[in-house]
Amino acid sequence: MNICQSCGMPMEKEELYGKNKDGSVNKEYCIYCYPNGEFNKPDETFEEMVETCVPFMMKEGYTEEQAREYLNNNLRNLKRWA
Ligand SMILES: [Zn+2]
Repeated sequence: MNICQSCGMPMEKEELYGKNKDGSVNKEYCIYCYPNGEFNKPDETFEEMVETCVPFMMKEGYTEEQAREYLNNNLRNLKRWA
């Protein structure tokens, strides 16, 4: 399964893939990060991305500390942040 190379979200369905400028599917990034050929927030830093993702992980049952540690370790390896 592909995961978004920006936010780490698993892209389980075609609808979750990002879109290139010409409307074709971009399989590296999700629709939230890469909706139309460029990043939703092009100036976003790694730290900001972690903060954006923490509340979503807390909804999945992680504590804030666990979420932050997980994201710091895992998002770091993604193409956008490497
Ligand atoms: Zn994403």
